[in-house]
Parts: sequence; C-alpha cells; structure tokens
Amino acid sequence: MLINAKSGLCPEDCHYCAQSRVSEADIEKYPMVSLERLLDGARQAAAARSLRYCIVISGRGITDHEVDYLAGAVRRIKEEVDIGICCSVGLLTEERAIRLRQAGVEQLNHNLNTSERFYPEICTTHTYQDRVDTLNAARRAGLNLCSGAIFGQGESEEDIVDVALALREIEPQSIPINFLLPIEGTPFHDIRYVSPDDCLRILCLMRFLNPKQEIRVSAGREAHLRTLQPLALYPANSVFVSGYLTEPGQAYQDTWRMIEDLGFEIEEHREASAL
Ligand code: SF4
Repeated sequence: MLINAKSGLCPEDCHYCAQSRVSEADIEKYPMVSLERLLDGARQAAAARSLRYCIVISGRGITDHEVDYLAGAVRRIKEEVDIGICCSVGLLTEERAIRLRQAGVEQLNHNLNTSERFYPEICTTHTYQDRVDTLNAARRAGLNLCSGAIFGQGESEEDIVDVALALREIEPQSIPINFLLPIEGTPFHDIRYVSPDDCLRILCLMRFLNPKQEIRVSAGREAHLRTLQPLALYPANSVFVSGYLTEPGQAYQDTWRMIEDLGFEIEEHREASAL
C-alpha cells in the first residue's frame, strides 16, 4: 500500500504525472505529512494485510532534512507496526540510501518507466541514466530494488521489449507494472488505454523474462484490465491495494476477494519475514 507523503509542486516534467510542473490536474498539493499521518498510514497498510508500506514523496530527489525526517518516521513505524518499508523518493545518492536503510527501509522504488530510447518523450528534466544511477546507488547501499515501468504512454512494441530486457538485466527484487491512467490536465491525458489482452501479454512477457521476481500489477490495473483483471494474477504475484498516488483504486476487501476467489493466498509480512 502506498502513501503519498508529499504531493505535487514537483519541478520535474514527467508527462504521465499529475504532480509535475507541467500538469494542470486538479490534485491535492501538500508538503511532507506529519509523523502521526505516516504512522497511521502504516497501521492502515497492516490492517489491509499489505506486505509492504511504500512511502512516496514528490520531487526530483530527497533533501538531507527529508532523509532525517523519514528515517525518524521509519524507526517509529518499525517499533509499532509489523510491516515492510519501501520508499520512493526520486533521485538518490548512495550516502542517503545508506541512511534510509539504517533506519529500517528495506526497499527502494525507482521505476525505469520506459525504454532508454523513448525516455526523452516522457520526461526532459532528468534522464534514463539518472534513474539507472539511482538504482545502482541504492543497490550498493544494500537496499532491495523495486523498479518497473508504465505502459500506454505511446511507446512502441520494441520499447516494451527493451524496457522488459533492461529490467531483466537490473534484476530488481520487485517489478511494478503500471498502465497509464490518463489524468485530465497532464500532457498524456488523451493517450489511449492499453487493451486488456495487451496488458496480459505485457505481464506474461515480464514473467517470462523474470521468472523469480515479484511482479506487481500496479496503477491502472482496474481501468485497463477491466473484466480480465483476475487473470493478471497468473503472470503476476502482487498488487497494490487501496489506490495510487493521486487516483483511487479497488477497495482492499475486493482485492482480497479476487485473490482468494482465484485460490491464491495472501502472504502477510510476519510470514514473509519468518522465511
Ligand atoms: S514522477 Fe516524481 S519526479 Fe516525475 S513529476 Fe511526478 S513527482 Fe516529480
């Protein structure tokens, strides 16, 4: 489960994102949330039987002050709530990644988002290589990696295969597969939906290339997969629950039901950490 711990006001121009400087989307914008709000989000994520609580902040990267604040918050969460912690904090140096890991963060999310060739079409304020550098810094710092892509941004089939191969090479522990939610007010607001069968093909490609990774059906699963959504849990083995950064999603009780109707089991944090 995600928490949008700092929303909007970002100087970057990621065309898919409602929080970017070029977005006119009508979203809530706020600075870093309180410690109590972060703790409460962790309690809610545990109550929703989430394996991991992902703290996301908008912006190009994280400041020293923000690292200190999040590190303190993560220490408090770990004292009180039995849940894994992931952070998604933009571009990151190895030194800052070490400080987050020492506080109890286990995993860093930083998506490649698309192929290297197509990257300049989705963002001009930082590069694909900047993203790879952040992933390498986080890995050197001892963090697990969560890195995936967003499909439906106008990329070609070749771009889909290229980003899938790039992720195979990086070998993140977790691969979130997002389907673009075209949000009114963003540059990509009129981009077409990926058809449900193409979503499944993309997920199968990811599983084929990454047989052992956690593959997560992420943002847009409800809107793009439509009635085929349950089938996504054959190639994938993970989902986000209770919505995305600026958009709502399926209620977690409905997600549990979908998983259990398929005959699968929900793995909770205490079971995963006992392995
Ligand atoms: S994806 Fe992150 S870096 Fe890009 S515009 Fe949105 S908040 Fe900023």
